[in-house]
Amino acid sequence: MKTLRLILGDQLNHHHSWFRDDPGEVLYVFMEMRQETDYVLHHIQKVVGFFCAMQNFAQYLKEREHQVIYLGINDRKNKQTLPENLNGLLSEYEIGKFEYQLPDEYRLDVQLRDFCKTLSIDSEAFDTEHFLTSRDDLARFYEGKQQMTMEYFYRDMRRKYDVLMVNDADPEGGQWNFDAANRRKWSGKPEIPHERGFRKDVSGILNEIRQAGIKSFGQIEETSFHWPTSREDSLSVLNYFCKHLLVHFGDFQDALHTEQAYLFHSRLSFALNTKMLSPKEVIQAVVDYWRAHKDEIDISQVEGFVRQILGWREYMRGIYWKEMPGYKRSNKLDNQNELPAFYWSGDTKMNCLKHSIRQSLNNAYAHHIQRLMITGNYALLTQTHPDEVDAWYLGIYIDALEWVEITNTRGMSQFADGGIVATKPYVSSGSYINKMSNYCKECTYKVKDKTGELSCPFNSLYWNFLDEKREFFKHNRRMTMMLKMLDEKSGDELDKIKRRAADIIANPQKF
Ligand code: FAD
Ligand code: SF4
Repeated sequence: MKTLRLILGDQLNHHHSWFRDDPGEVLYVFMEMRQETDYVLHHIQKVVGFFCAMQNFAQYLKEREHQVIYLGINDRKNKQTLPENLNGLLSEYEIGKFEYQLPDEYRLDVQLRDFCKTLSIDSEAFDTEHFLTSRDDLARFYEGKQQMTMEYFYRDMRRKYDVLMVNDADPEGGQWNFDAANRRKWSGKPEIPHERGFRKDVSGILNEIRQAGIKSFGQIEETSFHWPTSREDSLSVLNYFCKHLLVHFGDFQDALHTEQAYLFHSRLSFALNTKMLSPKEVIQAVVDYWRAHKDEIDISQVEGFVRQILGWREYMRGIYWKEMPGYKRSNKLDNQNELPAFYWSGDTKMNCLKHSIRQSLNNAYAHHIQRLMITGNYALLTQTHPDEVDAWYLGIYIDALEWVEITNTRGMSQFADGGIVATKPYVSSGSYINKMSNYCKECTYKVKDKTGELSCPFNSLYWNFLDEKREFFKHNRRMTMMLKMLDEKSGDELDKIKRRAADIIANPQKF
């Protein structure tokens, strides 16, 4: 009896126990499909990155004597949806059992469960063997608690996996969290090593995508694709991070700069989210490297990194499975505006947005603080509908998969979940951006001005937002001070602020 095993584009786990089984009676199938390229408008590098990584993984399996069916995007047999393709293969190869790995996206989970109900043969779902928590561990951890503060989950994970712990009980370095040390501005020093990029020729895949007529956006260099698309590439990016970037990762985690798209960030999210790397091995490699170089690397750098993967990444996945499908519709602040058109071009005079958006269009990447405090901050201050914000984030970043995109965007960044992920909205005026970047130096607008034609738009938008959402936040203790400052503004000043904010929101193209 033959078994058909499905491998989705983000299930490229080389160490999955499936591959230890006797290859004789198992057929593995990969599919490049319009259902996946078209559910949102994607950056071209994202489509290329996924296809390239899938093709490499299929090749890896073939070289190890596994039987692989690969449906390319222009393959005549390709019906472009999962159920149609699977049905075709089940009858063509006289399959006796269908197996798949649990998808990380809710829509695929539903689609595959529904599909299995239609089958007359056996089917079985397997774990992806990637994450450190199961889908519902987080829900169990917070059962009966009012607030799901990430920090407690993170500490529990540190204990459970014995990461940066002393005697199984105390945090290494005497503190659980070195967040306060992770907030330096970067002003040209220390020198940032060039990113571990690649110069891959992806013109073949690009031609296939063009021939298929897939719509996309953003830039790509055909002969110089720079993302990791194989296990070897991914390990080399990890190794490069440990050797060259870890030393200052924590220090400049929140820094922003016009000329530096990556600073000391790892660029590992695509390799992790496609499962070419496991979170466990990434954490292990970084901690081991630090242990061997303790005299050069401070614990705050490594703890800052571990927190992102052992803490935030697993936490976001848990929130996703706890809150879906309702999460996708949440809009607790009732924001209704359209996303400004300049998000798709970078054509704005606001220097922080111009740089963050152009870098995103060029690289399919922005680091966390650009996503949170520049593009996310502006979208929230202008009260943009979270559906529009989600579609943009889901499309533009190479690492964007719904489970981690929506929890970060709708939750952490847009406060649309009403405070499940964040205890207060991540909004700021221009002064925070000025503190952490060099954007304001070369901007048309004056960061210190609150009103007036050349005043920084973030300033009036910030106070306007607080004023308009005052009712919602009046019982939030973390907002008390800001609301008090708002109350201290004279009627005349607030009136000017609100008129300026209304103009910015109504006419984004002018700014
Ligand atoms: P580094 O800064 O080097 O961090 C190391 C790793 O930690 C990352 O690779 C990532 O796996 C993990 N990590 C860091 N922060 C988070 C976080 N908040 N949630 C989950 N994992 C985290 N990350 C995605 O992987 N996919 C997304 O679609 C995504 N969308 C986002 C949208 C918004 C609005 C915001 C504010 C953040 C989003 N993030 C997303 C989280 C974070 O910005 C990216 O993981 C990070 O920028 C990827 O770059 P890096 O690999 O260089 O990360
Ligand atoms: Fe952005 Fe305002 Fe600074 Fe200009 S002045 S870069 S708009 S924060």
